[in-house]
This record gives sequence, structure tokens and C-alpha cells, in this order.
Amino acid sequence: MNIEKGLLIVLSGPSGVGKGTVRKSIFDDPSTDFKYSISMTTRNMRQGETDGVDYFFKSREEFEALIADDQFIEYAEYVGNYYGTPVQYVRDTMDNGYDVFLEIEVEGAKQVRKKFPEALFIFLAPPSLEHLKERLVGRGTESDEIIKNRILEARKEVEMMNLYDYVVVNDEVDLAKARIQSIVEAEHLKRERVEARYRKMILEAKK
Ligand code: 5GP
Repeated sequence: MNIEKGLLIVLSGPSGVGKGTVRKSIFDDPSTDFKYSISMTTRNMRQGETDGVDYFFKSREEFEALIADDQFIEYAEYVGNYYGTPVQYVRDTMDNGYDVFLEIEVEGAKQVRKKFPEALFIFLAPPSLEHLKERLVGRGTESDEIIKNRILEARKEVEMMNLYDYVVVNDEVDLAKARIQSIVEAEHLKRERVEARYRKMILEAKK
């Protein structure tokens, strides 16, 4: 039987936006049927974390050997530690027809875009971006310096969005989760995808 390949879903966004919390809420929901790709990292294990569940914890030497062996779809150094997505799990799981979900920082997402341009890229945006206008105009009480910094910060965030297909504001975790689930559902219903599925069926029926 020919299994249709799963989607690669990439959730990313600025540091501190709550990617991890939204990801947990997605995977705590029993209706979620995509698979989470557990990353590798060289950072220390935090209290409450389990090796092989939250991350695969590696030494720098181990991680660098894996880089040399081309074992990552992407990897990045973030606050002094390596983080990377193992290639084998992602490929095998997609080949088995499951959607694979990555929750990674923006440098890694850029690398994935190059390797998997057909993946689905979702940008998780801070709620402050939604209220940008109020923040920029302010109540007339903020100093020029504060406004200038906010403009700079907002510009950086907006420029980061460039690479993504969808933007989800993380105003409330449950809402962000529901929006992401809807995006994935819609992606499966894209005409190109559905058409390809039917064409394949017809081809196979002819055999
Ligand atoms: P933390 O140390 O708080 O678990 O994660 C720090 C950052 O690393 C987060 O922004 C998280 O999304 C990102 N991250 C986690 N796994 C990966 C990965 O495999 N690749 C990349 N590029 N970033 C990751």
C-alpha cells in the first residue's frame, strides 16, 4: 500500500513567546494526532524533565559527532547550547503517514525552510504585537526612547515573520492551540493535496 506522506509542521517564533507551553497544550490534547519530534540538546536537564521525553540530552562531543555525521535536519546554538532536530525520526515518521511537529527557535526554522520548502511554517507571535498600535501611540505618557525601542522590537518581530505561512498570536494558550490545529486541518484539505490523493487512487485502481 502506498501511504501518503505526513506533513512537517514547524512552530517557531521569538524567544519567550511561549512556544513550549503551546506545544505542551497541543500534545496534552487527546484529539491531536500528529507526532512530536523530540529534539537533542546539550543543555542541562531541568527539574521535572526526562531524557528521551523532553529532549535527548547529549554532551557537546556527542552532539558535534552527530553534526559531522549529518544527523540533523537543522541545529542551532541558543544561549550557549546546541539544539537540533534528528533527521531519522522525522523522515521515518512522515514516511509512515504521520504529521511531524517541530517546536524550534527561528534560526533552526530558517534551515528547515531551505530543506523542506513544502513544510508548514507557523509563527507564534507575542500578544503585544496585536496591540502594537496602542503600544506605539501609547497613552501619550511613554518617553520617545520607550516608543523607539518598541518600534525596533516590533520591526524585528515583523521581519522574522517573513519566512512563515501563518501567524498565530499567543494571547491565550487554548486559543493558540485551537488556531494551530485548524491550520493543520486546513493544510490537509488544500486542493493540491486532495487532488494528488485522488489521482493516486485512480492510478492504483487502474493497475
Ligand atoms: P529550552 O532550553 O527552553 O527548552 O529551549 C530553548 C529554545 O530552543 C526554545 O526556543 C526552543 O523552541 C528551542 N529548541 C528546542 N528544540 C530545538 C531544536 O531541535 N532546534 C532548534 N533550532 N531549536 C530548538
